[in-house]
Amino acid sequence: MKYSIFSLAANALTGHKGWKPAWRDASPREAYDVVIVGGGGHGLATAYYLAKEHGITNVAVLEKGWIGSGNVGRNTTIIRSNYLLPGNIPFYELSMKLWEGLEQDLNYNAMVSQRGVLNLFHSDAQRDAFARRGNAMRLHGVDAELLDRDAVRKMLPFLNFDDARFPIQGGLLQPRGGTVRHDAVAWGYARGASDRGVDIVQNCEVTGFRIENGRAVAVETTRGTIRARKIALAVAGNSSRVAAMAGLRLPIESHVLQAFVSEGLKPLLPGVVTFGAGHFYISQSDKGGLVFGGDIDGYNSYAQRGNLPTVEDVCEGGMALMPMIGRVRLLRSWGGIMDMSMDGSPIIDRTPVDGLYLNAGWCYGGFKATPASGWCFAHLIAHDVPHPAGAAFRLDRFATGHLIDEKGQGAQPNLH
Ligand SMILES: Cc1cc2nc3c(=O)[nH]c(=O)nc-3n(C[C@H](O)[C@H](O)[C@H](O)COP(=O)(O)OP(=O)(O)OC[C@H]3O[C@@H](n4cnc5c(N)ncnc54)[C@H](O)[C@@H]3O)c2cc1C
Repeated sequence: MKYSIFSLAANALTGHKGWKPAWRDASPREAYDVVIVGGGGHGLATAYYLAKEHGITNVAVLEKGWIGSGNVGRNTTIIRSNYLLPGNIPFYELSMKLWEGLEQDLNYNAMVSQRGVLNLFHSDAQRDAFARRGNAMRLHGVDAELLDRDAVRKMLPFLNFDDARFPIQGGLLQPRGGTVRHDAVAWGYARGASDRGVDIVQNCEVTGFRIENGRAVAVETTRGTIRARKIALAVAGNSSRVAAMAGLRLPIESHVLQAFVSEGLKPLLPGVVTFGAGHFYISQSDKGGLVFGGDIDGYNSYAQRGNLPTVEDVCEGGMALMPMIGRVRLLRSWGGIMDMSMDGSPIIDRTPVDGLYLNAGWCYGGFKATPASGWCFAHLIAHDVPHPAGAAFRLDRFATGHLIDEKGQGAQPNLH
């Protein structure tokens, strides 16, 4: 059903009894053209673009839990395309453009809000690095503005400007960055894909692969064997474990990242703000809660909850940046499993197993990538050649040395 002011009014007049489920909760069939493993943002976006852009509709998305139970429903909702390196900027800018048209495309309110993303800098060297990044963005047609201390103070007068250990010198602003309601993205893509014939199968865990003569031909699941001409992995934090079932060892480690939400406050933060002297980022949801996060936990884990030292570290970052946050009550916190790659950039590629495709390594930044990831992965699956915007995200770059190390941290997944 099409959502519009008319359907809203009609349903309001009839007691809201006419709404239909947004997508079909399908049972798995024996065979598909494409099976996508993982019903997160990336798996669902891939299914949607496969159907819409490439006319491939005999597709199943297999999700071990419920759609949105993974990182797509656990992240801090930030979108941006403020990258430095050539492999990254065009990809994330494609994503930003897709975000800008997403709600009209899906006919679904994902609360895309371009309220701006401001990265603060606290030293001359950091200012130079941010100026360089801003210039790289502008050369690629991406919006970027370097703000001085007064401009930041005008925008965010409550930050600690007076007695901070790391004085704020200014910030790099991407006005088109912002936030999107994360789980609505899963629901919107699911609805769009389901409408076009894709089967979304929940409570269906992939437990193994059937590989014949070097080609993946079927997945074993908790709901039986499902054959497929092509099998696509989009399982984020579970990438190494699932790929290992097909005999692949990925250059990925899994870590927990926590997120925090405060009680609702009156409008305070106009956009997203990141602290440059520690790892802390914050925005305010439309319900008024402060939504914030920081570093990943310091050890590998598959548990979707975090530990207290990181909570303390995040709170210290918040207090250093905006001391009044110390009087805000925390409402809830949670964790998600991050697929941290060795160079901090993702993988969208075929694998050494014929018919098996990989979408992984999203680190901290996979939510903002969701539309472009689905777009490029669908292109790869449909045509067996990479989409130009995602062509740098090859699996063999870790062997050939063509790394895309945005932070310059080297093979330290926990530092990306
Ligand atoms: C706390 C937190 C904050 C974050 N903040 C941001 C942010 O502000 N901005 C940003 O850009 N990114 C952010 N991220 C990162 C982003 O959320 C992820 O990179 C992105 O969501 C990963 O892609 P996905 O949505 O497809 O993952 P997921 O939603 O995790 O989807 C993968 C799915 O695969 C399923 N699965 C796993 N194994 C199997 C199996 N064997 N069989 C079937 N299904 C399986 C899982 O259940 C899961 O639903 C954040 C992440 C976390 C945890």
